[in-house]
Amino acid sequence: MRIAILSRNKHLYSTRRLIEVGEERGHEMHVLDPLRCYMNINAKEPEIHMRGVELPQFDAVIPRIGASVTFYGTAVLRQFEMMGTYPLNESVAISRSRDKLRSLQLLSRKGIGLPVTGFASKPSDIPDLIDMVGGAPLVIKLLEGTQGIGVVLAETRKAAESVIEAFMGLNAHFMVQEYIKEAGGADIRCFVIGDKVIAAMKRQAKPGEFRSNLHRGGSATLVKLSPAERSTAVKAAKTMGLNVAGVDLLRSNHGPLVMEVNSSPGLEGIESATDKDVATQIITFIEKNAKQHKTRTKGRG
Ligand code: ADP
Repeated sequence: MRIAILSRNKHLYSTRRLIEVGEERGHEMHVLDPLRCYMNINAKEPEIHMRGVELPQFDAVIPRIGASVTFYGTAVLRQFEMMGTYPLNESVAISRSRDKLRSLQLLSRKGIGLPVTGFASKPSDIPDLIDMVGGAPLVIKLLEGTQGIGVVLAETRKAAESVIEAFMGLNAHFMVQEYIKEAGGADIRCFVIGDKVIAAMKRQAKPGEFRSNLHRGGSATLVKLSPAERSTAVKAAKTMGLNVAGVDLLRSNHGPLVMEVNSSPGLEGIESATDKDVATQIITFIEKNAKQHKTRTKGRG
């Protein structure tokens, strides 16, 4: 098959692994920088060009679109979808998952466990918002943040009010969330492909930190999931419409709670913590599922 990887950097671990495995399995792998793709949007034949040349037809496309290029990257992916290329994850599903608030709303509709979350726009609503999520301590999250940046633990009500006022003053969008203390600074990353969790790791924050992101100095180890954790992760990925997803769970004393569903989960942390060959499972999923024009939306929405 001819497979495109939409990635800004072919030297990144995840991109390298996908090229390596794809080539080993006899595929023609091309890394395309989404920002270098430009499009001819017309009524007859949608086209994608790069450096003056029209791209050939691809059988499948693996989107590895960073949060900072979501808008342009999903537009390029949508163009591939209109051309009939099979997307590992669809553009609509990626757009959904990039909006943290929209994601939580979609998950809540399906009855999936979530930390109690509040959202407001007026300073006069702050006291009630804090009460709604059970008072301090609580977590305040900037909607635009990634890798734990813009996630604040407010230990007291006073601290929460001050941080919320500051964010509102800056016109930043944020949500307020109950703090799951019993998670003990750990979260669980479930790597979902299709309808299975194929690997899972526990990320533990460094001492004195509640955010377990590996970029914030957290450490990762293999973890065994409960059946409830497995089914929650698969259901969350399905709700977002993602074939491949990194579902982040918190272990609360009333079961697994979904924090986030990531549409471009990294391979390095999970492959090294679990010793599983995740890249091969992604490529074999494509081999089984890639058919021309097999998308739910065909770039429609
Ligand atoms: P990002 O998308 O920027 O990584 P997250 O929402 O995943 O932000 O939060 C970063 C980390 O903070 C999580 O991995 C988790 O360890 C911790 N965390 C986030 N929300 C909560 C919460 N409600 N209760 C306890 N810990 C949390």
